[in-house]
Amino acid sequence: MIEQHKHIEPRVTLLGAGPGDPDLLTLKGVKALQAADVVLYDALTNEALLEHAPKDAIKVYVGKRSGEHSHSQDAINRLMIDYALNYGHVVRLKGGDPFVFGRGYEELDFAASYNIPVTVIPGISSSIGVPGLQQIPVTHRGLSESFWVITGTTTNGKISDDIYQAARANATVVILMGLKKLSQIVEIFKAAGKSQLPAAVVQNGSEENEKLVISTVQNIVAKVSEEKIEAPALLIFGEVVSLHPSFKNIIQQYATIS
Ligand code: SAH
Repeated sequence: MIEQHKHIEPRVTLLGAGPGDPDLLTLKGVKALQAADVVLYDALTNEALLEHAPKDAIKVYVGKRSGEHSHSQDAINRLMIDYALNYGHVVRLKGGDPFVFGRGYEELDFAASYNIPVTVIPGISSSIGVPGLQQIPVTHRGLSESFWVITGTTTNGKISDDIYQAARANATVVILMGLKKLSQIVEIFKAAGKSQLPAAVVQNGSEENEKLVISTVQNIVAKVSEEKIEAPALLIFGEVVSLHPSFKNIIQQYATIS
C-alpha cells in the first residue's frame, strides 16, 4: 500500500490583492496566505505579498500580460484544480477585487464543478481605491450620484455600448483597460457634449511609480501622450475630478493661455 504522508483537503481561496501597494491587502487576505500550500498569482499582484505565505509553499506566476499570453484561462483553471487535489489549499491571488473584470467567477465555477470548496476574500478594487488615493471621490453630494465601472476592452474588441450611455449620464465613469482606446473614448464624451468635463488618468495607482494626469476631456489625450502614460492605467471622467487640488491650477492655466 502506498503510504499517504499527508491528508489532503483540496480547497481554493479567491483572494483580492488590492490595487498594488502590498499594505492594501486585507487582514483576512494575510491569514489566507499564511495558510496557503500553493499561491497562484497574476501580473497585477505585488510579489511582496508572497512573503506572507509559508517559505515552503509553492508559488506560481500565472500572469497573462497583454501581448505574451503565457497562460490561457483554461490552463489557469486546470492548474488550480491540479494543485488543490495534490497539495491542498490553493490561494488564487488576483489584482484588485477578484470579481471586477478579474474572471473570478469563472475560476469559482470551475473549482465548484470539481466539488472543491471555494472561499472568496474581496480586495480593494483599483476602480474605487485608485481614485480615492488621489482624493478623487467616486461619489460626492451634489456632484455625482453614481459611478460606473466599465471595461474599455470587451471580448469582441469593440467599445462597450455602456460607454456611450455612461457618457450621457451625470455619473462618474471609471474605465479599466481603456488606455489604448482613450482617443476613441474621448470622442464619445465629446459627442455627448462633454468636452469640458474633468478627466484623469492614473498609471500604477498606489505604487511608488504612480503617475497622474488631470485635465479635461478635450485635452486629456495630448497630456497623456506628453506624460508617456502606460498600462496599467485607469481613466476617470466626471465632475468629481475637479475636486483634485491640481484641477484648479489647470483651469487657471487654460484661462491664461486663451
Ligand atoms: N480586478 C482588478 C481589475 C482587473 S482589469 C481590480 O478590481 O482592480 C485590469 C485593469 O485594471 C488594468 O488594465 C487597469 O485599467 C486597472 N488597474 C488595475 N490596477 C491598477 C492600478 N494600480 N493603477 C491603475 N489602474 C489599475
